[in-house]
Amino acid sequence: MKTLLAIFAHPDDESFGIGATLAKYAHEGAAVYYLCGTRGESGTVDPALMRGYTDVGELRSAELECASRELGLAGVRYLGFRDSGMPGSPDNRHPNSLFSASVDAVAERIAGHIQELNPGVVITHDKFGGYGHPDHIKLHHATLRAYEMLYGISLNNDGDWTPGNNAQPSTVNQQSTIVNRQLPIPRLYVTAFPKGMLKLAVRLLPLAGQNPRQFGRNKDIDLVTMSTWVVPVTARVRVSQYAGHKERASACHISQQPVTRQGNLIARLLFRRAAGWESFSRLYPPVKAGERLERDLFGA
Ligand SMILES: [Zn+2]
Repeated sequence: MKTLLAIFAHPDDESFGIGATLAKYAHEGAAVYYLCGTRGESGTVDPALMRGYTDVGELRSAELECASRELGLAGVRYLGFRDSGMPGSPDNRHPNSLFSASVDAVAERIAGHIQELNPGVVITHDKFGGYGHPDHIKLHHATLRAYEMLYGISLNNDGDWTPGNNAQPSTVNQQSTIVNRQLPIPRLYVTAFPKGMLKLAVRLLPLAGQNPRQFGRNKDIDLVTMSTWVVPVTARVRVSQYAGHKERASACHISQQPVTRQGNLIARLLFRRAAGWESFSRLYPPVKAGERLERDLFGA
């Protein structure tokens, strides 16, 4: 049986970004798991939605359970860290925040889940954290570090570390490495947002009176900077059949209204236009020069 493990930071990252891909593989018979870094504790929530819940983390975990059912996931697991909020927020300094945790501490927990589930495919955030969220960036580095610990392969050798995050390039410590060369190494992908569409959004949004540097629910997404980040697309998965699953799973995250449901018509049309495919960048096995665009993450 095929197993896919998605590793992202918050309840909603599984649905808003690549929810249709997760639904597709789940409905094609794969066991699809979501390993979620935090319970989204630092999100701001409309007090009316809090009825019946003791805290934001509990509410957002319930929203994730709902999304998991819509996507057909085999299970949701938590890494047990706390949401760090955006850069500079007081939540960064909480002792249990993902931001405060060392890359190695996060990587050890991830490695444990990979060993237990033995997935054929692992998907995580890109090195820019999608739109720069420190928790996303930390999980990217920690997932790569988990590969070093489990398989003795170093994937983070481009030296390109985003400033503002306390992640440091890790050196392979042979003592703490549980290298097991018998285990098949799962294919590793990061999410990749089509840049052409982003560049178009940056040009069109000002015409609609919207600032592309202050985009999204909390106006903390800088589309101009994002459009300069390069994450090469090496795989495009056709998901138009699963757009409904993604939409329903996204709707479960009532407290986190997705970008696609707000703003003006231009923003919505741009996101809709991109809805038929979801894009990925493969980090392992390394992409060979001249290799064709993949259509299937399991390498079929
Ligand atoms: Zn997130």
